Amino acid sequence: MTTAYLTHYHCDKHHMGDEHPESPMRLAAIQDRLIAGQLLDFLRLVEAKPATLEQIIAAHDMDYVNAIFAKAPKKGSVELEPETLMMPHTLEAATHAAGALVQAVDLVMSGEMNNAFCSVRPPGHHAEHDRAMGFCFFNNIAVGAKHALDKHALSRVAIVDFDVHHGNGTEQIFSGDNRVLYASSYQHPFYPYSDPGDSHDNILHMPLEAGSTGEVFRQMYTERLFPALEAFQPELIMISAGFDAHKADPMGQLRLDDSDYTWVTDQLMAIAGRHCQGRIVSVLEGGYNLDALGRAAYCHIRSLMGM
Ligand SMILES: [Zn+2]
Repeated sequence: MTTAYLTHYHCDKHHMGDEHPESPMRLAAIQDRLIAGQLLDFLRLVEAKPATLEQIIAAHDMDYVNAIFAKAPKKGSVELEPETLMMPHTLEAATHAAGALVQAVDLVMSGEMNNAFCSVRPPGHHAEHDRAMGFCFFNNIAVGAKHALDKHALSRVAIVDFDVHHGNGTEQIFSGDNRVLYASSYQHPFYPYSDPGDSHDNILHMPLEAGSTGEVFRQMYTERLFPALEAFQPELIMISAGFDAHKADPMGQLRLDDSDYTWVTDQLMAIAGRHCQGRIVSVLEGGYNLDALGRAAYCHIRSLMGM
């Protein structure tokens, strides 16, 4: 089993202030845990390339993307919405984060790698077609999925999102696109307060009440997600791997623990093994308790490595 670990030093430079939870220390927390657990040496480290304008525009409105490029400050900051700030390094971080997904899809689709984890930031799943939101500028996983659909001519890409927050951006970008199954588990009601009511057939909502434990999470996935994935027969599984549903996370009120991240990854690995030669591309979304983030991401990556 060969697992790629994609990142770029630009992703460490995007810094929205010392008090901001979406901090550069998040990537270091993951990498430190991989080193301490002696996994890093067994990963294929890949320096991410930036996404091209064409690749980003495949998932986003052209005017929006041009505006993001135009607003990028040389110094100081530009507030796109409260807590979503562009700083001098933000644009480079965001283009490399999206580019990591494109590259990871290429590595996995070519068979060079079995699967891949993109340890990148800013995160992406709240970014909508034409709107930055919730610490997100470009929807990284959507850029990667569009690349898989358009450039690798796939017709069935499953996106599983276990971040504590609903991935409103990913859902908006792919609503009604039957080449994609988007399945999101999330605390409800909770930010971003998107309406989980009526939606398209290719969207699977798995709302969880505050306080839900791993047992409830596992039951939801077993009863709803796994049968949907088996029926969909994905050619590629992509994961929006947010670790803020962990019980130690300061933002969410779900109660997952480290073992739940091993479990869900093992299950998705088994489904990927049955339907798509094990092809999985995973990307970091949230996760704001640095210690829990490091441990949960370690469990996820170790499972991707088949260990
Ligand atoms: Zn989140």
